[in-house]
Amino acid sequence: MVDICLVGIGKIAQDQHVPALSASEDWTLVATVSRAGSVDGVPAFTDFDAFLAGSDCPVISLCLPPVPRFDYAAKAIAAGRHVMLEKPPGATLAEVHALQAMADKAGVVLFASWHSRMAAGVAGAKAFLADKTIESLHITWREDVRKWHPGQEWVFEPGGMGVFDPGINALSILTEILPGPVFLREATLDFPENRDTPIAADLTFSGGVTADFDWRQTGPQTWGMKAVTDAGVMELADGGATLLLDGVRQDVGPNREYPALYDRMAALVQQGVSDVDLSPMVHVADALTLGRRNTVAAFEF
Ligand code: NAP
Repeated sequence: MVDICLVGIGKIAQDQHVPALSASEDWTLVATVSRAGSVDGVPAFTDFDAFLAGSDCPVISLCLPPVPRFDYAAKAIAAGRHVMLEKPPGATLAEVHALQAMADKAGVVLFASWHSRMAAGVAGAKAFLADKTIESLHITWREDVRKWHPGQEWVFEPGGMGVFDPGINALSILTEILPGPVFLREATLDFPENRDTPIAADLTFSGGVTADFDWRQTGPQTWGMKAVTDAGVMELADGGATLLLDGVRQDVGPNREYPALYDRMAALVQQGVSDVDLSPMVHVADALTLGRRNTVAAFEF
């Protein structure tokens, strides 16, 4: 068992990280660092510097929103700790490149995690597409921001990425399953008149790939994609947990995204190897560079 510390005890730490670590045979959660949050039975720190000074815990998992994450990651690396980043791995691409260089120099592991890539149907989708010619692939990623980010104002502040916070999950699957790279050609972004990040986006990529992200969907939530190929149709649903090939549901086993992320981190630490793939975030940066801006109705939680 390897000791690990969780930083930023908020929604995703409580929903996913703590249960995944509690059930793991690889990890012991020895500390948390959070200004307000804590985990029952686990020593809780409120100050990251004080934690680093007083602990030799070798692995730190950062569950903070992307904007404050860099400073924490940089301090952890400087203190010789291995670091796991929630998605998206940072507020900008340049800062994650900087972290990677710092980790390489310090000889520690940096893992930029993409939980949706671990969804149960993703490996089968990738295997199906590997030898096909894709005629079209459409992503529909529509959810209710009030349900998944209740009161989290940071998602609409600069660096919060707006609808790309969930949309980057779809892009992490896309960049994993496609046999080759695509690039963005056009984007339309809907910004609420009182907000700094988009609440919806329509994207057109090369290679017949399109995407529709929307954060205003109430009722049933839709996290899926459908590829029409020269030799059959591939559909992922339920965020990648369900795979259909030519309409037939495949047996892909249980969905265990966060346990699989921590299995991967354990393997990376054991091997002393980093894993930092920024391709999903490149598409988001490109959309924010290339996108045409529409102003839409004001949004309040
Ligand atoms: P959150 O609950 O709003 O924030 C997590 C914790 O980070 C907060 O409880 C807070 O803890 C700390 N924090 C927030 N702002 C901070 C700041 N400026 N400086 C220092 N600490 C700060 O967010 P979340 O939903 O857990 O999301 C965190 C990350 O996980 C995001 O990158 C998100 O994309 C990813 N994620 C979220 C979900 C989801 O469903 N919500 C799903 C998958 C991945 P203290 O106030 O106690 O310090």
